[in-house]
Amino acid sequence: MFRKILIANRGEIACRVIRTARRMEIATVAVYSEADREAAHVRLADQAIAIGPALSVESYLRIDRIVEACLASGAEAVHPGYGFLSERADFAAALAEAGIVFVGPGPEAIAAMGDKIESKKLASRAGVSTVPGYLDVVPDAEAAISIARDIGYPVMLKASAGGGGKGMRIAANDGEVRDGFHSAASEARSSFADDRIFIEKYIEEPRHIEIQVLGDAHGNIVYLGERECSIQRRHQKVIEEAPSPFLDTATRAAMGRQAVALARAVDYRSAGTVEFIVDRRRNFYFLEMNTRLQVEHPVTELVTGLDLVELMLRVAAGEKLPFGQDDLRLDGWAIEARIYAEDPTRGFLPSTGRLVRYLPPAGKGVRVDDGVYEGAEIGIYYDPMIAKLVAHGADRDAAVDRLCDALDGFYIAGLQHNVAFLAAIADNERFRRGALSTDFIAEEFPAGFLAPTGFVPADRVILIAAALAGCRIRECEAAIDGRLPGLHGAIPADWTILLGGKMHAVAVRANGAAYEVEIRGERLTVATDWQPGQVLLRIVGEGATATVQIARLSAAAFRLAHRGIVRRAQVLSPRAAELLALMPEKKPPDTSRLLLSPMPGLLSSIAVAPGQEVKAGEALATVEAMKMENVLRAERDGRIAAIRAKPGDSLAVDEVILEFE
Ligand code: ADP
Ligand code: ADP
Ligand code: MG
Repeated sequence: MFRKILIANRGEIACRVIRTARRMEIATVAVYSEADREAAHVRLADQAIAIGPALSVESYLRIDRIVEACLASGAEAVHPGYGFLSERADFAAALAEAGIVFVGPGPEAIAAMGDKIESKKLASRAGVSTVPGYLDVVPDAEAAISIARDIGYPVMLKASAGGGGKGMRIAANDGEVRDGFHSAASEARSSFADDRIFIEKYIEEPRHIEIQVLGDAHGNIVYLGERECSIQRRHQKVIEEAPSPFLDTATRAAMGRQAVALARAVDYRSAGTVEFIVDRRRNFYFLEMNTRLQVEHPVTELVTGLDLVELMLRVAAGEKLPFGQDDLRLDGWAIEARIYAEDPTRGFLPSTGRLVRYLPPAGKGVRVDDGVYEGAEIGIYYDPMIAKLVAHGADRDAAVDRLCDALDGFYIAGLQHNVAFLAAIADNERFRRGALSTDFIAEEFPAGFLAPTGFVPADRVILIAAALAGCRIRECEAAIDGRLPGLHGAIPADWTILLGGKMHAVAVRANGAAYEVEIRGERLTVATDWQPGQVLLRIVGEGATATVQIARLSAAAFRLAHRGIVRRAQVLSPRAAELLALMPEKKPPDTSRLLLSPMPGLLSSIAVAPGQEVKAGEALATVEAMKMENVLRAERDGRIAAIRAKPGDSLAVDEVILEFE
């Protein structure tokens, strides 16, 4: 086994690899950019080497610097994680030339699978079923239209060099093919410096199900079951699980056999993933093979009991796989949710800032893979994933329950994040039934992630939490008042809670260590150990518990969150309720005539000019942040009065870009 390895990555995956290496008593070397001087992976590794400026192309993508760092530190092998250099055949080759082991497949296998057109051809020769389509480069938009008509609508235009959901467009008619061809090609050119496009059938009601494979250098290849990753946004995975609620034993075995056949065709060693798209009749078609460790590998680890990083290291060191296909047993169910620094209430725009509070959940069946800490800065340079939350249970219901509960208890403050959105998905009735498809998010959240209006079940829990908080705060004040008599008087039992523009009456009476709560005609006995200042309020009822996130906004106003419902609530004692009724409400400034930058970023272009009429939905400007182009669109019809910023400007959040008349 290696004595020392270098991890050519950052964030949660670098930390994940370091943890396993440490357990195996292998010394670790981290590499870092100027932006990552204080990063978690740098702190965790035994040794850390600076490799350049913040921009990835000048640091994490610099093959020469990483090879130098290996030679300087004496690292014998490199684990590439995912993203960055993990699927670059030239990286694997450069390491080999320097006598360093690449923890992954051989450069030939990476190259063969790196191109979607070539890998589809190879797969179809290996007897793997592929999506019907046209297996060559499409020269222009007109050719694309005639090919699309032959295949039959709908079709998918894809960049051959694509990855990370980029360079991909669905088209249902000739016009959409023409537009899609140009936009996919230009996205592919800017993301991958390669604008080759091909076309395949768009599989309707698709489910993304992938097979984890693992091979050694002695010709042994096994598959470790499947993962379903159908909960996606813009073709990027959001929630993944193992096993898939959709597969039967026969389909699973057939997919596993084909995945192994494909891996064998390229002499695959190490961990890899063969991705399939599955239609409603369980026909499955090969999409691509990812020749690396996948983001969602923890769900496979939890159901197989294996450590994939350890196995990758053992295989890279020349060891044989310690088991065969028949030795594998799957146990229970695992689900992973990706926690991103993004604002689901504002079109999922990336968010940056300091993690002022960061309290990941813990407990039985809960695993958190992260690469951050409280006080860390989430910048604009890299992937906005903060952490992965993984829950394991005996069956799907148990795993989903655990995930929901862990999400309720995952507290992040200082920047926008998607925890509430993930909780809303996990608590969604259709998700619970396992009726998944890659259209799930678009269908279940057609207007984006908006706080539901009206009273939903989570509101009951939120009201109880708010009343308990009001009560506990007064109890603490009373304890102090005991020394300064007569300040506040008795603790009231009847509270009025302003929530969603409505008043709700909640009565709370202390009864020993518990509270008798009366709400909406219902009586219940609950307990809580919450203290003012704590960000999680646990309610223990008879037979059930609930966790509510609570942040105090002012003396009696709170922001509360439970099961994806985020509310502002004002807790009023009878006297305060009377006073509030006399106070005029303060109005926020009117910004409806301004286009504001929704995030910090670079203004890359403005699509309109003063005096121009625009229609709702029309593109106004493009802001680039976190390597994503975010098109800002008109919310309603209007005329442009003035442009207040110019392309190339770096914008702060809420900076004015233009004004409407
Ligand atoms: P997975 O199935 O493991 O989620 P993805 O294709 O989503 O695989 O890629 C995982 C991560 O790797 C992404 O979050 C992204 O940071 C990075 N990545 C992969 N391919 C690309 C690419 N072509 N361009 C930019 N980033 C990429
Ligand atoms: P990437 O390299 O970006 O991961 P993939 O080919 O793996 O690209 O596709 C990413 C996602 O796009 C899939 O998980 C699926 O949701 C969707 N997709 C890709 N091809 C098709 C198709 N032919 N029909 C339906 N959906 C597809
Ligand atoms: Mg993919």
